[in-house]
Amino acid sequence: MKDVLIIGGGVAGIQAALDLADRGTHVYLVEKEPSIGGRMALLDKTMSTNDCSICILAPKMNECFSHPNIDVLEYSEVIGLEGKAGDFKVKVKKKAKYVDATKCTGCGICMEKCPTEVPNEYNSYLDKRKAIFLPFPQAVPRKATIDDRYCLKLTKNRCGLCEKICKAGAIDYNQKDQIIELNVAAIIVAVGLSLYEPRDLYEYGYGRYDNVHTWMEYERLINAAGPTHGHLKCSPDGRRPKKIAFIQCVGSRDVKRCPWCSSVCCMVSIKSAMLANEHYNDLESYIFYSDLRVFSKRFYEYSKRGERDYKITYIHARPGEIKEDKRTKNLIIYYEDEKEGKVKELEVEMVILATPIMPAKDTKRIADVLGIETDEHGFIKTVDFLKYPVETTKPGIFVAGCCERPKDITESVIQASAAAAKAAELAG
Ligand SMILES: Cc1cc2nc3c(=O)[nH]c(=O)nc-3n(C[C@H](O)[C@H](O)[C@H](O)COP(=O)(O)OP(=O)(O)OC[C@H]3O[C@@H](n4cnc5c(N)ncnc54)[C@H](O)[C@@H]3O)c2cc1C
Ligand code: SF4
Ligand code: SF4
Repeated sequence: MKDVLIIGGGVAGIQAALDLADRGTHVYLVEKEPSIGGRMALLDKTMSTNDCSICILAPKMNECFSHPNIDVLEYSEVIGLEGKAGDFKVKVKKKAKYVDATKCTGCGICMEKCPTEVPNEYNSYLDKRKAIFLPFPQAVPRKATIDDRYCLKLTKNRCGLCEKICKAGAIDYNQKDQIIELNVAAIIVAVGLSLYEPRDLYEYGYGRYDNVHTWMEYERLINAAGPTHGHLKCSPDGRRPKKIAFIQCVGSRDVKRCPWCSSVCCMVSIKSAMLANEHYNDLESYIFYSDLRVFSKRFYEYSKRGERDYKITYIHARPGEIKEDKRTKNLIIYYEDEKEGKVKELEVEMVILATPIMPAKDTKRIADVLGIETDEHGFIKTVDFLKYPVETTKPGIFVAGCCERPKDITESVIQASAAAAKAAELAG
């Protein structure tokens, strides 16, 4: 039996790896971050069941890492490909973590003591992390990584504190990047999504008003493991909000920006409003929508439950502008009431913008390295949307998850299992 390579260790990549490994196929799972898990590891709860996201994903992450048929190559990237279906030769760069993974116990002492604070991309830049870090508490593998862009020892030959305090002797400032060559029969691309930054939608004030956030920032704010330990706080005095507005399609379905529907945001905003009300049961939410796309099994009922049990009001309008009250930092939303044909105002303490799901930043580079095509929006192209939904334009290379188009976790997992079944045909 031949090996299979999976690129991207989000829920789609993990599912494909487990399906293949369980049938006896050996898998390499290449993930560019120091931990597998992808976006799902950073979500609070998941719609439409409102289950804890990491509680569902963490067992799969651990099973994947400890599976005898899976080699996880984290902090790694694919940089070269030769050959053809059934016999690909792949070059992978494994970046130095400057920590000996066989010795690190993940105790975290180095992270407490490291003096260098840097913007924390895993909390949507809402707080800081250290130069030596774990991306999030449930990271797999639970091994420290030194960020060589910021570490004082690696950039200025100063500090060296982590080496002195690590009782396990795990710090190794001399570690070098490694190039690994693999021979695989098939490849599954599962590099996931990135999100549009809505600064150019000036009318909504993102980046100008303290209490306007994106939906990804909200996921971290409402999460007990996030920067505010799950408490919603408003500027300027840290008070908790009593009224929140969620604005849909902020850049999605917009011919000037991202013409596609991001597919999950309507349901995610309902989930987010429910969670806010679960935290503070007098809290009211307003969801401004163009079309409420609650199209799947039990989704419509979910939206109705939000209205009935969680103080959600749906408003069919695309707000024209948001203004900030300079004293209270409250936000005044201007929108047209369709029924009355009037411009109305709604004052809230926090606004959450549902921004478009885009292809992961690295998708074009990966596509070029692999010699596969992307579509007009930059997502990985399939040969035929209806008949061959997991086949890319190169035989032997398959696709799964949000790098193909925006989709929810269930659809990502389904596509991952389909891609694994196709890859298995080549692995034998
Ligand atoms: C704010 C928000 C809330 C959401 N809430 C829900 C919800 O409640 N319920 C639901 O069903 N769905 C939700 N979704 C959608 C859900 O996040 C996606 O369906 C799911 O994460 C897709 O999984 P994936 O594996 O395709 O991509 P990702 O989760 O993005 O994982 C891709 C992985 O590939 C890695 N990667 C990227 N580039 C490379 C590279 N070049 N080489 C190697 N690795 C690479 C990434 O680091 C990442 O680990 C939400 C999405 C957002 C943005
Ligand atoms: S590097 Fe050392 S101090 Fe840091 S987490 Fe690992 S074992 Fe603990
Ligand atoms: S050597 Fe680098 S990672 Fe270690 S404590 Fe100093 S700044 Fe932090």
